Amino acid sequence: MRIGGIQRTSTLDFPGVLSCVVFTRGCDLDCFYCHNRSLLGQGDCISQEEVLHFLRRRQGLLDGVVVSGGEPALQPDLKEFLIQVRSLGYRTKLDTNGQHPQVLGILIGEKLLDYVAVDIKALPRDYKKVCGAGSFQKILECLQLLETHGVPYEVRTTLYPGFTMEMLRQLLSMLPQMPCWRLNIVRRPQLLRASDEPWFEQESLTARLLIRAQPQLRELQPNLIIPE
Ligand code: SF4
Repeated sequence: MRIGGIQRTSTLDFPGVLSCVVFTRGCDLDCFYCHNRSLLGQGDCISQEEVLHFLRRRQGLLDGVVVSGGEPALQPDLKEFLIQVRSLGYRTKLDTNGQHPQVLGILIGEKLLDYVAVDIKALPRDYKKVCGAGSFQKILECLQLLETHGVPYEVRTTLYPGFTMEMLRQLLSMLPQMPCWRLNIVRRPQLLRASDEPWFEQESLTARLLIRAQPQLRELQPNLIIPE
């Protein structure tokens, strides 16, 4: 595992579970608003043994481990890492960009995941523009796997600049009722490429606008989580 960082405690990343967050290096998308850009390329890594040592010391104090990134599904030894984490008694959550249904299927089949968060970044037509690549079909395959195997999950969408209320309605209408769909307000990342500056000259949806539109949005997705 190429691990670029660890957040030692989180009460927010794994619903209802006091956890730590392990950030893997590398991603196959390139979202202009990425807040983990420092994890996308080469850089220092923490050894897996160091992380497991930390987890052994936190046994009984933490309940869960979130594996985030970057894109964890790109790590060839993710399965083995999760097996070790589970053997220490931790519950596990995977954060994924939804582009790796095959890996997700293996992890689900091995019963290595307690919760999964799948990012839906944009309308299908806008994936290339926003993320440089990406397939909406693969996201649908991931969601199908999670549904079929009864793994608890949520989807998450960051409302990037230029993403309008009409686009949000379209996106929410594209999927059947999700168990939880979390909306995040975009924040300007610290590492923003100069070529991506124009994105941030566009309007962004605000919490106030979302709260006002809440009744109509919840008609499309009742389990929407709107930021306050
Ligand atoms: S999928 Fe996540 S980690 Fe990868 S570029 Fe997009 S925001 Fe960054």
